[in-house]
Amino acid sequence: MPRRDTILVHGATPFDAATGAVSVPIYQSATFRHPALGASTGFDYSRVDNPTRSELEKTVALLEGGKYGLAFASGMGAISALIKLFRPGDHIVVSEDLYGGTFRLFNEFYAHYGFLFSWVDTSDFSRVTAALRPETKAIFIETPSNPMMKVSDIRLCADLIHQRGGYLLVDNTFLSPYFQNPLAFGADFVVHSGTKYLAGHNDTVAGIIVHSCDAYDEPLRSIQRSEGATLSPFDAWLVIRGIKTLGVRMERQSANARRIAYYLKENPRVEKVFYTGFEDHPQYALSLAQARGHSGMVSFYLKDKADVPVILRNVKVFLFAESLGGVESLVTYPWEQTHNAIPESMRAAAGVTDRLVRLSIGIEDVDDLISDLDAAFSPNSTV
Ligand SMILES: *Cc1c(COP(=O)(O)O)cnc(C)c1O
Repeated sequence: MPRRDTILVHGATPFDAATGAVSVPIYQSATFRHPALGASTGFDYSRVDNPTRSELEKTVALLEGGKYGLAFASGMGAISALIKLFRPGDHIVVSEDLYGGTFRLFNEFYAHYGFLFSWVDTSDFSRVTAALRPETKAIFIETPSNPMMKVSDIRLCADLIHQRGGYLLVDNTFLSPYFQNPLAFGADFVVHSGTKYLAGHNDTVAGIIVHSCDAYDEPLRSIQRSEGATLSPFDAWLVIRGIKTLGVRMERQSANARRIAYYLKENPRVEKVFYTGFEDHPQYALSLAQARGHSGMVSFYLKDKADVPVILRNVKVFLFAESLGGVESLVTYPWEQTHNAIPESMRAAAGVTDRLVRLSIGIEDVDDLISDLDAAFSPNSTV
């Protein structure tokens, strides 16, 4: 079995058997001719299955160490499909500090259909235990969390929920399979916004689920083909192409992020920096135990809220835009953007205040990124 860096480049199928093509073909076909009545090439209709999408699904499954992969039109499409494995009346414990769109999906949609959610700080394991109820069927964690970089213990959460026959669902978007494999620590389902590190170029939107539960392969495929929020062949190809450089991008993005985290720590306008690579991060030891790196994500509190618009307006290399994980460095204001859907009191309790800024560090020259921040902090200086 090839090692991770080789799988990244070659994927599940290193070349096209029919033509020798080194890049997986984009099978831009809605339907597939049947050889005879009752016979199939394995592909019938592209909502159900498509060869390009299938190659992506197998590749991400290999990278996560899972048996099955499923690709969706977005990360939200993937998360929504996963929640459909559960039933009204089921209770799910969820990280309180997570992607705002996931909060909205659970709280504004699934809650209305009778699903029960508890929002807790899952980086504090005692709170996870305390939140369990007789009807608890799953724990859904995002680790590291978005945007506060809290780290939850995958193994402890998995053991806890398995004792009652439930499932652990992990959103692994922030670290990607290059740095973290939740299935290896007992998670049952891993979900990705493939839009982020996997695709990596801010050029497409995608979602992936990986798991190894034989009993759930067919139910999940059925949800995927019945709902139809599947990834198109071209978008699947873009994600495959992105994955080829996932390793080199992650190494560069995490090295750049480390420099920027330390730069911010010394910046007098910054009150506090959230970065899992700091030795004084509350879950530093846990990060080292369950992940191989620290991604390119850094959040920080400004001392003065008035600095927020100044920075967002003045950055030139950083782009003021939502999303993360791509080669371009982005700056986001979670309070009004990614986490706007979360009620103010919950945002405040989770630490998402109006002085919080989130950076997704790209692969540019890190000195340009630091000078850009420096200039944005002091827009009136002549440098
Ligand atoms: C972006 C994101 C999502 C949603 O994914 P989309 O591809 O935008 O639908 C889910 N979880 C996390 C952690 C994200 O960053």
